[in-house]
Amino acid sequence: MAGVYVHIPFCASRCSYCDFFSTLRREEMGDCYVEALLAEAALRRMELRGEAVKTLYVGGGTPSQLPLPLFVRLVDGLREGLGLDTVEEFTVEANPDDVTGEWCAGMVSLGVNRVSMGVQSFQDDILRFIGRRHTARQAIEAVDRLHDAGINNVSIDLIYGLPGQTVESWSRSVDQAVALDPQHVSAYGLTYEEGTRLWHQRERGEVIEVPEEQCVEMYRILVDKLQAAGFEHYEISNFALPGFHSRHNSAYWDETPYLGLGAAAHSYDGVIRRYNPSDLKMYIDKVMSGETAYQQEQLTRWERYDERVMLGLRTAHGVDADVLRQEFGDEAWRHFVDVAERHMALGNLEKKASRYVLTRDGVMLSDSVVRDLMWDA
Ligand code: SF4
Repeated sequence: MAGVYVHIPFCASRCSYCDFFSTLRREEMGDCYVEALLAEAALRRMELRGEAVKTLYVGGGTPSQLPLPLFVRLVDGLREGLGLDTVEEFTVEANPDDVTGEWCAGMVSLGVNRVSMGVQSFQDDILRFIGRRHTARQAIEAVDRLHDAGINNVSIDLIYGLPGQTVESWSRSVDQAVALDPQHVSAYGLTYEEGTRLWHQRERGEVIEVPEEQCVEMYRILVDKLQAAGFEHYEISNFALPGFHSRHNSAYWDETPYLGLGAAAHSYDGVIRRYNPSDLKMYIDKVMSGETAYQQEQLTRWERYDERVMLGLRTAHGVDADVLRQEFGDEAWRHFVDVAERHMALGNLEKKASRYVLTRDGVMLSDSVVRDLMWDA
């Protein structure tokens, strides 16, 4: 199986916490960017090695900012270039204020069967403060509209630890999310990425960070409420009703090869990682002149071991020590098991047959557990 990721680097405005690659120049560059994406698909289709495309994920940026005719041009072109008949999960990311009835109908007609929506919070004052363009009401209406249009696989993104958020208000936001009947929830702790507007505000003392122990409490509330509502906690930040795990993202975590198209997109073929430039003009110029735009790096055995451990431990499946031994040899296996047993004694890991999985307490300490298990720790 193969996955294809397509990056749409346009946003209507910039949110204060975000360091993803995107620009506000959609009107000026949207058409030629879509042509560049299709040119890149043609240039790189052999990287799929004849494997059927099972998941297609259009992310951003804000893909729902792409005007419908341009979206149609993109999907038709990809269908022609890559063959999308075998796609089982077709996800598009959207912002709530773009989700009109017309947009939903357009997505359905193109075969989109999953929408991932950046809601982030159900508090309007916080949404305004972090520069989101939508209100809580618009998010609620957008989910209803998606369901009405027949898209029955809706994912909601939330952020905890936002300035001004309290444990109580977060708890209400999680309740509100559950009440909307989504099939999937992704929730991330806020990080102050250097250079973002929010980071500068913190540097100037204009925002006060939510204390670490409150963020931990928010995460516990999230896990408890979603599990009580029937969601499976299948990855540190991801929850799904049975049968609704993100197949595309699961492929990243279990290191299935994927092809990433577009500025700033990454690809992985099992050994080599390829990175497109985070520069729109450079990307377009390169691919339109018939050249690939990526840089690449071949991971060493130990880098692959580190990735396997880091990504595996993020998931409910954990890391299978027997598989690790087969793939990376006795030395790696011995290192992993020795450190993992120490963390088991501390209550951070548990063992299920040959798999090591983070415990509930271990999830809170996942960064330090993973660091210890890495080869060059
Ligand atoms: S969070 Fe999403 S909508 Fe906001 S600037 Fe980043 S990519 Fe754009």
